[in-house]
Amino acid sequence: MKYILKDFNRNIPDNELLEDLKKIAIIVQQNKISTRQYESNGGKYSSNTIRLRFGSWNNALKMAGLELVYFRNASKEELFKNIQEIWIKLGRQPVFRDFKKPLSKFSSSTYQSEFGSFRQAMEAFVEFVNSEDESNYEIEEFKPEINQKDEIVYKHKTKRIPSERLKVQVLMRDGNICRLCGAVLTGENIHFDHIIPWSKGGETTFENLQVLCAKHNLAKGDLEFINMSTGEK
Ligand SMILES: [Zn+2]
Repeated sequence: MKYILKDFNRNIPDNELLEDLKKIAIIVQQNKISTRQYESNGGKYSSNTIRLRFGSWNNALKMAGLELVYFRNASKEELFKNIQEIWIKLGRQPVFRDFKKPLSKFSSSTYQSEFGSFRQAMEAFVEFVNSEDESNYEIEEFKPEINQKDEIVYKHKTKRIPSERLKVQVLMRDGNICRLCGAVLTGENIHFDHIIPWSKGGETTFENLQVLCAKHNLAKGDLEFINMSTGEK
């Protein structure tokens, strides 16, 4: 069958769109249908036409007297948080097919109905990630102090553990590749290393973080330990 791109048609009356929605629901024998089900079972219009007309896919379903596809409405924050978690687990940009349980809490159609399309959802997410994340910062001022043993004690202006958002920013820049050995990493193997060590006053910032494998992150820790114990640089 030849694929024909469906027209975006503003002249179709609302009730015709809703009737077609009901017709396809009967064909698939379900009281709730997703945009994909609608389109792949002979829906006459593009799901986007319907979505735009009624504000959201779920609204159209509601007006057609059908059940909503999603039982709860996730907030944008939850939807973004979910993408962050998947991105960190995979080490790379999640694609459409990654939005499945158990990896994802929400389906790709949830994103489509919230943002208009999957692509738009990812664009909104990238914009969100690139915005400044205040949660990495402590209120405290950064100033090293000398303690009673004459050691320099660093006070940090950032928290030691990077936020999920900062981790994704670093992954976007470095990819899921150890900067020292080039190993491709996923999930637990991705270590976010402080380039200037935390113990030497290095901050948890985009500039001071890098992706390392577990081995190299730990090796770096040892090195630091040796240097500190011998007093050598
Ligand atoms: Zn490595």
